[in-house]
Amino acid sequence: MDVVTDTERLPSQGETLLGTDYFMTPGGKGANQAVAASRLGGDVSFIGKVGNDVFGDRLMTNLQQNGVNTGGIESSETFSSGMANVLLKNRDNRIIVVPGANNQVTADYAEHYRHILKESDIVLAQLEIPLSTIEWCAAFCHEHDIPFILNPAPAQPLPETLLKHSTYITPNEEEYTKINTPSVEKDYGETFITTLGARGVRYRNITVSAPQVKAIDTTGAGDTFNGALSYYLAAGYNIENALYLSNTAASFAVEQSGAQAGMPSFQQVQERAY
Ligand code: ATP
Repeated sequence: MDVVTDTERLPSQGETLLGTDYFMTPGGKGANQAVAASRLGGDVSFIGKVGNDVFGDRLMTNLQQNGVNTGGIESSETFSSGMANVLLKNRDNRIIVVPGANNQVTADYAEHYRHILKESDIVLAQLEIPLSTIEWCAAFCHEHDIPFILNPAPAQPLPETLLKHSTYITPNEEEYTKINTPSVEKDYGETFITTLGARGVRYRNITVSAPQVKAIDTTGAGDTFNGALSYYLAAGYNIENALYLSNTAASFAVEQSGAQAGMPSFQQVQERAY
């Protein structure tokens, strides 16, 4: 859950300040990406964990209202729901993320839901749960010939096995520079799909440009791109078409504020794309 407080200035040490406004909005990279894929018409299942608290209830309801199957989500009795505490002053922000129950999504937990992975056409993961869980999922998918997309955000160095077992790795430009070393580039460069903001996306020697739109708020652009890419690849589109349509889908996300508000339907993407 993103808890966003608007303020005219940021507090200094020990100071209590009156803010202007606050709002809560469901977030989390995984949840946003699941909603993006579902809006396009995907049959999406989510594996994760929330806290047994009001945020948890709201996060679950939001996923369900967006058609995401929540059978792989449990509620933790001991940890609170993951939360991002956002202080927003105009365009300047300070954010504290508390992973909470996300840290309890262990490899054993994911293994318990292996049937969900096994019946999937594609699996998409982010780095907001323990790395060992992602490594297990990627290895499982590799073993069962299920394409595995890794959105490496927040960026951190990736273990060799994870690089090896990922079908596609989708950083933005900043994450790309954090992850990529000369040896990663040499052995896994062809796996990377790097999003370039308003400039679109780069894959191997292809750059697919994004539609020109009036950007209001880019929050959720990357998540929309990843959800859409998973959807189009799972639906059988080839990689070039999937990149083009995912760019188009993500261009809708930047036209509205909030991560999930602007995520488009299949029809909306079709109309803009062709
Ligand atoms: P986020 O702002 O959600 O963190 P990100 O940094 O993860 O995004 P970006 O590379 O900025 O990812 O954007 C992801 C995709 O969104 C781009 O590849 C592009 O398709 C689309 N996009 C982003 N910004 C714009 C824009 N200004 N105009 C059109 N499309 C955009």
